[in-house]
Amino acid sequence: MNASKVYRCGRCQRRARRTLTGWNVTMRGGRPVGYLCPDCQTPDENAEAEINQATLTYLGAGADGRHRAVPKVSAS
Ligand SMILES: [Zn+2]
Repeated sequence: MNASKVYRCGRCQRRARRTLTGWNVTMRGGRPVGYLCPDCQTPDENAEAEINQATLTYLGAGADGRHRAVPKVSAS
């Protein structure tokens, strides 16, 4: 956890405190490019985040700073 990093909502400019729990992170090319606080997320965006959470496993940032996610393998 990098304490000096400040996350700011792209719509209301609100700052996240310490954690991004409930926040929506927009990823582009493996890098986080935008953040949305829970108050600014539309139901659609919320649903999309839930689906991503359910279907992707986040591996976190690698040595190059890029974030990676892999589809969850469903055991059938
Ligand atoms: Zn906001």
